[in-house]
Amino acid sequence: MAPPRTYRCEAIILGYTPLGEADLLVTMFTRDQGKVRAVAKGARRSTSRLVGHLEPLTVVKMSMAHGRSMDIISQAEVVQGFSELKEDLTAIAKGQYLAELVDGFGAEDSPNPSLYQLMIDTLRVVERDPASDLPLRFFEFHLLLVSGLMPELYHCVECRVELEPDAHRFSPNVGGTLCLDCHPEDAHLRPLSLRALKVLRLLDRSEISEACKLSVDDSLASELKSLLSTTVSYWLGKEIRSNSFLERLNSETDPEVYI
Ligand SMILES: [Zn+2]
Repeated sequence: MAPPRTYRCEAIILGYTPLGEADLLVTMFTRDQGKVRAVAKGARRSTSRLVGHLEPLTVVKMSMAHGRSMDIISQAEVVQGFSELKEDLTAIAKGQYLAELVDGFGAEDSPNPSLYQLMIDTLRVVERDPASDLPLRFFEFHLLLVSGLMPELYHCVECRVELEPDAHRFSPNVGGTLCLDCHPEDAHLRPLSLRALKVLRLLDRSEISEACKLSVDDSLASELKSLLSTTVSYWLGKEIRSNSFLERLNSETDPEVYI
C-alpha cells in the first residue's frame, strides 16, 4: 500500500530562507522525525494563512504533504510562540544559538524526541531569565548526552581510574575528564577546576530548572563556557556563528544598538 500523501507533525522552527518569488524553505526540528526541510508555498505573501506561524523559535503543529523532492507545509497552528522571549534581544540571540546547534546536531530521518524536548525546555528557561547563561551550559551538556556524546566526568578516560575530588583536566576530543598522569596523543587538554567539575556533575544529575538556580561567579562561568562550547564546536566540526553574536552582545553595555 502506498504511504499516505499527507501527515501531521509537531515541530520547532529553526529558521527559513526565501525560495522563488513567494515561498519559504523552512528548516524545522520535528518531535517524531528529526530535522525536516519543507517548502511553505506562498508564505511570503501577506495574504498567506501561514504568515506569522513559521517564525524561528515557534512550536507549531503542521499538516504536511509529501512532495516530489521536498515536503510541503499545507497548514500550521502555533502551539507555543515564545512571544516574551522574542521581545528581548539577548534571549533571541540565545534562542538562535540553540537553533543553530539543533540544526547542526539534528539529522534528517533520525528522530530524537529528547533533543526536541531539551530545546523547548531550554527556551522556556531562557524566556524567564534571559540574563542567565546557565541554561545554555545545561543545553550544551545535555545536547552531547542526547547525541550519544556524553562526556565522562567520573573516571579518567584513558586509564579509567576513579577521579578524586580535585583539579583535573578535560579534553573535548577524547571524551571528558583525564587524570594528571595521562597524556594521550592528540588530546586537546584543558585545565578543569574542582568547582567546574562539580557543576558539570550537577548538570548531569539535575533537571534544568534546578540546575539553573545555581549561582556561579564570572570566572567559573567563563571556565564552563570555554569547556562546553569548545566541546560542542569540536563535535559540530565548526565554529558556531550565533555564539560570536552573543559574545558581541555581552560585551556591549547597551545591547539596544543592534536593533
Ligand atoms: Zn589517567
